[in-house]
Amino acid sequence: MEKNSKIYIAGHKGMVGSAIAAELTKQGYHNLVTRSSAELDLRRQEAVEAFFEQEKPEYVFLAAAKVGGIAANNTYRADFIYDNLAIESNIIHSSAVYGVKKLLFLGSSCIYPKLAPQPLKEEYLLTGELEPTNEPYAIAKIAGIKLCEAYRDQYGCNFISVMPTNLYGINDNYHPQHSHVLPALIRRFHEAREQGARQVTVWGSGTPKREFLFSADLGNACVFLMQHYNDKALLNIGTGHDVSIAELAQLVKDVTGFEGDIVYDATQPDGTPRKLMDVTRLHNLGWRHTVELKEGIALAYADFLKKLQSAISCQP
Ligand code: GDP
Repeated sequence: MEKNSKIYIAGHKGMVGSAIAAELTKQGYHNLVTRSSAELDLRRQEAVEAFFEQEKPEYVFLAAAKVGGIAANNTYRADFIYDNLAIESNIIHSSAVYGVKKLLFLGSSCIYPKLAPQPLKEEYLLTGELEPTNEPYAIAKIAGIKLCEAYRDQYGCNFISVMPTNLYGINDNYHPQHSHVLPALIRRFHEAREQGARQVTVWGSGTPKREFLFSADLGNACVFLMQHYNDKALLNIGTGHDVSIAELAQLVKDVTGFEGDIVYDATQPDGTPRKLMDVTRLHNLGWRHTVELKEGIALAYADFLKKLQSAISCQP
């Protein structure tokens, strides 16, 4: 990838796409192509083809996706499978037709079987049943991996697939019901402190374990892999460490300064018990994360407060 290569970032307004765009800009790549979802509906095949015909990007980061936490995945099951299948099919096919030199597809750790051994090695894909709460999303992401592999097999396309662990950080989604656990807890603990509440409710039992990667680290990893990784095999991106939801809640409590109690709502689903990535292959390529969880939560909380402040000052 040259500094003036034309690079399309699909999904540049989201947490992942914006982290990739920031990393590319930091490294001196200056020919970035973007479209908002209002300008280009990636679920429309003809619109996507017309965009590729017009722009002819050389490199593509496929970070556009319908995403959300356990409740959103479980509620909007049709949207999660349909939107993601359509987005991936349209972009991957157009990338092959219009001669994209390399494409990086972002999957998810939920592609692995619910009860796979831990840590999750890349070869565990398709060895068992998926976690039911996010099966539609996982099936769409598995299809994206298989699309990349098939276009490589049949047409020789250099399309790679990377599987990030749970992400959090800058430009995250803080929707109270539809977000992932970390932004949900940042918001809930912050609001509880502001309102002087005595307790905060955390979903599930607190015992599931999750691994968390800061968004800027993911952006750095994606650019590194676009530069250095050319194999068919999918690749995990993570830190190699996980914490229980109870430990996470305590960390968020400390960072936000909430002083009350934590209670658990057992009527909410736990989801998969654990999904720690095996990052041996990534480490062997020479990449490691730099932001540890407590530091990252403080950075994410600062971004949350900044956005809250600008939303308040924008009101008439
Ligand atoms: P998952 O990794 O696909 O299961 O997605 P989430 O990030 O949504 O949830 C991770 C875990 O955190 C699950 O065990 C949830 O039950 C738990 N959790 C606890 N409180 C919350 C919350 O307020 N929102 C979400 N999304 N998850 C929560």
